[in-house]
Amino acid sequence: MTDPVRPLLTGEDARGRLLSAVDAPLPVEEIPVGDALGRILSEPIVSTLDLPPWDNSAMDGYAVHAEDTAGASPEHPVRLQVVGEVRAGGSADVTIPAGCAVRIATGAPVPSSADAIVPVESTLEARQTAADATAEPDGPPATRAESFRPGETLAESCLVAVAAAPNDHIRHRGEDVRAGASLLGAGMALGPAQIALAAGVGLAGVPVYRRPIVGVLSTGDELRHSDGVVGRRGIPDANRPGVLAACRAAGVEAVDLGIAGDSLDSIMAALRPAVDRVDALIVSGGVSVGPYDVVRNAFGVLGSVDLWRIAIQPGKPFAFGRSAPRDRDGRRVLLFGLPGNPVSTLVTFELFVRPVLQRLGGRRSVAPLTDRAVTAETLRSSRGRRGFVRVKVEQSEDGSPRRDERGRLRVSLAGGQGSHVLSSMALADGLAIVPEESRRVDPGAEVEVMWLGR
Ligand code: AMP
Ligand code: MG
Repeated sequence: MTDPVRPLLTGEDARGRLLSAVDAPLPVEEIPVGDALGRILSEPIVSTLDLPPWDNSAMDGYAVHAEDTAGASPEHPVRLQVVGEVRAGGSADVTIPAGCAVRIATGAPVPSSADAIVPVESTLEARQTAADATAEPDGPPATRAESFRPGETLAESCLVAVAAAPNDHIRHRGEDVRAGASLLGAGMALGPAQIALAAGVGLAGVPVYRRPIVGVLSTGDELRHSDGVVGRRGIPDANRPGVLAACRAAGVEAVDLGIAGDSLDSIMAALRPAVDRVDALIVSGGVSVGPYDVVRNAFGVLGSVDLWRIAIQPGKPFAFGRSAPRDRDGRRVLLFGLPGNPVSTLVTFELFVRPVLQRLGGRRSVAPLTDRAVTAETLRSSRGRRGFVRVKVEQSEDGSPRRDERGRLRVSLAGGQGSHVLSSMALADGLAIVPEESRRVDPGAEVEVMWLGR
């Protein structure tokens, strides 16, 4: 256990030590692609297909022999006889004789005898007969077709107004993805585009890490269920719903362990049965230096306290430990003791718990999203501790962050900065970082801001 008179651990050291306490990610499972949002790949995704799987048309238009369109212009269009049609999902098994074309849809397979696509936008209105075209040589030029009309029947011919070159508007087999190519790396989070890609290369399932399961407990004799009777001595438990939500937002499965009182027995009664079915335990409250702050004792009973107290504000009393190896699988359960003040709870979750849980879940990138900003107001913190000040980011009309000519955000205080002041936490867009060596950052100065909820 850290001796309180020794210098406090810096946030960076604590983070490094916490991340290295995760020795191996959780086991792997195969799940349907459609269920994989937010899950973490455990192996690279390797395509079994070429994508596109065959040459197909990038445009609605005509499949042609490029050489048949040589010299075509709006003034001197080239007429091609239309000998058939290939629809999306249809067969490309048509032969195109010289001087002929086949109507083709976007995504339809390109007949092997064609070497280019003329988009409909490069043809002239072709429904008129050859007779019309020759009967009025001085009449108004035929108009450029902009699209096929829905349900339009196949014209006998088309008038190509722009010469095509070989390969024009053909999407070649394997141009996007080659069969056997490794597409997405292990440790990557699956978002909509990654899911679309996995499905697009024909995968039904993806290998992912099991999601961490985390038990969440609040401690404090004063705590009441927020929907119950609070009375004159109680306060509603804000941390448990907050931490459960923070876990879920981080892609973790969270289990509600309820509220324990300020005694070792009460806390052990909640933690002991949970140790066997979770990967981590998050306990808020009771981690400071008071006579009833017994959470560290509980961690000591389960295993060890590896780290306590960090040079940050808010959140200094943060504690971390690990259980003894479990009989079942030899794994150690991660034990997080978060300070009970609700802002300290959420800030230390963001700084130290989220990255560790995500790393446990196999995620490679766990760094917070940060930005440069200019502060409009004085930001204060204690010297010797890194301050995390709740700030609002100035927004444009549409809610997007406003940036100055150097790309910097502009921030102002989100409200009071006491570690019990939840209202400012709920309004904050981010945490402005006041370095250890300063006690204040003056208006107009630049600060780093860590985004919340991104
Ligand atoms: P502790 O860390 O137990 O010393 O608690 C510090 C402060 O946070 C005290 O004012 C507690 O009443 C308050 N607190 C602790 N746990 C919670 C909770 N779950 N919800 C709201 N406030 C809490
Ligand atoms: Mg307490």
